[in-house]
Amino acid sequence: MIHRSVALLSMLMILLLQNGCVNTPENGRLQVVTSIVPFAYFVERIGGDHVAVTAMVPPGGNPHSYEPTPRQMSSLSGASLFVKAGSGVEFELDWMPRILSLNPELQICDASEGVRLIAVNHEDHAHEKRTHAEDLRKDADHHHHGRFDPHYWLSPENGIIIARNIEKALILVDPERRERYTANADEVVSELEALRFDIRSRLEPVRNRRFLVFHPAWGYYADEFGLKQIAAEEEGKTLTPRQLQKVIEQARAADIRVVFISPQFSNVQAEAIARDIGGRTGTVDPLAHDYMDNLRKATDAFSGAMR
Ligand SMILES: [Zn+2]
Repeated sequence: MIHRSVALLSMLMILLLQNGCVNTPENGRLQVVTSIVPFAYFVERIGGDHVAVTAMVPPGGNPHSYEPTPRQMSSLSGASLFVKAGSGVEFELDWMPRILSLNPELQICDASEGVRLIAVNHEDHAHEKRTHAEDLRKDADHHHHGRFDPHYWLSPENGIIIARNIEKALILVDPERRERYTANADEVVSELEALRFDIRSRLEPVRNRRFLVFHPAWGYYADEFGLKQIAAEEEGKTLTPRQLQKVIEQARAADIRVVFISPQFSNVQAEAIARDIGGRTGTVDPLAHDYMDNLRKATDAFSGAMR
């Protein structure tokens, strides 16, 4: 890790020298960088033409293990605003100090401000509870899901909070366009209210309100809509045969026939579970770009699987 960091830092120095370290906005547009793709969607909608946005973790990338490229790090030197998840996503914990040291002028928007984060309940997972000592050790090296479930953006109720946080941050860095940003944010919020209503009605007739996901990204969504997420893994680790067996038993007991996977994770074990319960796998994406469309698709997928 240390060697890699030194190499990366020297590459950065070269890139910075080549590009110059001046904070000049490209084509007069405000440069915004977000950690994950769904936040970029919100920035595009609320910032409109005045804003150029890029997400650091690329589509299909895994934010639990992602490392920014030197080019991405150097592009931060010209950015005005960075939107972070703030909920313990690993690559942010690892990289924020370096991001800030590259551009001390960078405004940071914590998209989770005002969100009620849910503590990870190890009982909900099919495998054994970790000891407190293990938790502490894991907190020390940051490569884990933290004390809170970081995937709060997947509840549209939290989407509204995210939209308002991004509106506030854009106004802070560009107060002259305050009215435009507020009007755009109002529009996004009313679409999100409609989305919440649609999802709620779509899920209304579902009787068995439990669904099984391989990666535990849908806890906030489940909470908002009165569903129960059963998760196979935690922290992207391969399940032991015993854990696998426990998930299969849980799925059978809950009369579950679909194992949902995310495009970002390997699905070999998910397919093994699906085979064993005589079911199939389905896909739901926690990091898709079109936030609204993605939650509608996920709702279709979940409601098709629950009976
Ligand atoms: Zn995740």
